[in-house]
Amino acid sequence: MTAQASLMWFRQDLRLRDNPALTAAANSGPILPVYILDDTNSAPWQLGAASRWWLHQSLKALNAQLSDRLMVLRGDPRQLIPALAAEYNIEKIFWNRCYEPWRSQRDSELKQTLKDAGLSVSSSNASLLIEPWLNLKDDGTPYKVFTPFYKKALSKGINLDSVLSAEPNPEFIQTELAANRLDALELMPAVEWHSGFAEVFTPGEAGAEQQLARFLEHGMSNYQQGRDFPALESVSRLSPHIHFGEIAPHRIYKDSLEFGRLKGVESESEHFGRELVWREFSYSLLHYFPSLTENNMNRNFDHFPWQKDESLLRCWQTGQTGYPLVDAGMRELWQTGYMHNRVRMIVGSFLVKNLLQDWREGARWFWDCLLDADLANNTASWQWVAGCGADAAPYFRIFNPISQSEKFKAAPYIRRFVPELAQLDDKHIHEPSAAPALILAAAGVKLGENYPKPVVGLKASREKALEAYQQLKARNQA
Ligand SMILES: Cc1cc2nc3c(=O)[nH]c(=O)nc-3n(C[C@H](O)[C@H](O)[C@H](O)COP(=O)(O)OP(=O)(O)OC[C@H]3O[C@@H](n4cnc5c(N)ncnc54)[C@H](O)[C@@H]3O)c2cc1C
Repeated sequence: MTAQASLMWFRQDLRLRDNPALTAAANSGPILPVYILDDTNSAPWQLGAASRWWLHQSLKALNAQLSDRLMVLRGDPRQLIPALAAEYNIEKIFWNRCYEPWRSQRDSELKQTLKDAGLSVSSSNASLLIEPWLNLKDDGTPYKVFTPFYKKALSKGINLDSVLSAEPNPEFIQTELAANRLDALELMPAVEWHSGFAEVFTPGEAGAEQQLARFLEHGMSNYQQGRDFPALESVSRLSPHIHFGEIAPHRIYKDSLEFGRLKGVESESEHFGRELVWREFSYSLLHYFPSLTENNMNRNFDHFPWQKDESLLRCWQTGQTGYPLVDAGMRELWQTGYMHNRVRMIVGSFLVKNLLQDWREGARWFWDCLLDADLANNTASWQWVAGCGADAAPYFRIFNPISQSEKFKAAPYIRRFVPELAQLDDKHIHEPSAAPALILAAAGVKLGENYPKPVVGLKASREKALEAYQQLKARNQA
């Protein structure tokens, strides 16, 4: 090993292209590429089971790109990185920044340790279009409302060039500790439930680029309208690729706007770009309000009378509520590790409002089951659904899962994920409990036997939720 070797610490940037830290490391000589599974500092937000599956596949793909030279370790990077630097005589360490509070804290401690030891540390941005501190209100405080956040970001302009770059061609150092240790991380789930994931997704940089190309070809031209219809292929399904950094949002943003211009569908691609900026907003919120993961952003909700009920929670988790669209969404999540955005909003509203279960229960379940589980997006979105977040849906906005199902033509989606209802026609599939007995019999549906009766009535549970909200308001005003 030469004295000039540098260490590239891969984290949420599992790609070679458009990777500023890797490009900087490559300019400085041979590279020791390292990934560390950190289950120590991440507590209590260690990776969920579905995310572990994705990470396993993604590291495997990255290692193949690195000709089997990725060093994969498990432990606390605050100890491991200095130890590696000493062992391999490394002087320079490169990484791309992460923004979750636990990662920021760990990284700044580590940076200090390395600097104190006389080493050089260089960090870059690879995963956000706008880092949180670059998009503040004129008075220097963070935004709590999306639209002005978005407008400010556009007016300042998004710097794509700082991230977009060709794949470098560095020399990666071979060590005896290389990636044959991937299996030792034991990321693959012990329980066999994940076989459907690979039917939908191909983790890794190549998979991400193919997914973007597929979306541009088949989804983008109808994104604005189509994105609300769960049965259509109008969304990108790029979220897990983005989360693990297999593709830069800068690349997605640039390619999609260019596609929009080229095909004359600018309003579609601009709308898509706006959705990408929702992710930036979530990151800004988490950066400036780090307790968001545990606490209501709107502290007036602290005394909300949640009605903890394990059995209702279980019905929701397993897709057995008797509301077909809710059940289809929860089963899509279980079977594919993904759920369509509109359905996420509907199942979220149902859990928090119709079932009166704490939003944190939903966020935890999603954290474990989603391939795109993302601390910023998941937390901010659950708080949005519950009405206690920044720029949230007002509490009294309670999605009706039946009318949403009808409005957004969810019948094919329900048939796919709730096969016991597959023989019901488009009129009755949204609300089997209201279908005539003859229709149910002809479709082979036996309510309470092969498909549940509704676990709560919509009207009564809605009224109960609004009552709970009134109680909370009265308590806060007293
Ligand atoms: C209760 C709830 C929980 C959620 N949990 C997560 C999560 O853990 N991880 C996650 O990435 N997203 C989460 N979202 C946001 C959103 O549902 C997903 O980003 C989106 O469904 C991903 O699918 P897609 O890539 O096909 O989206 P597309 O519509 O194709 O959008 C492209 C990208 O834009 C970003 N984006 C789109 N919509 C949103 C949004 N509302 N908020 C923030 N970013 C957005 C995502 O990065 C997404 O990949 C959650 C939403 C809700 C309502």
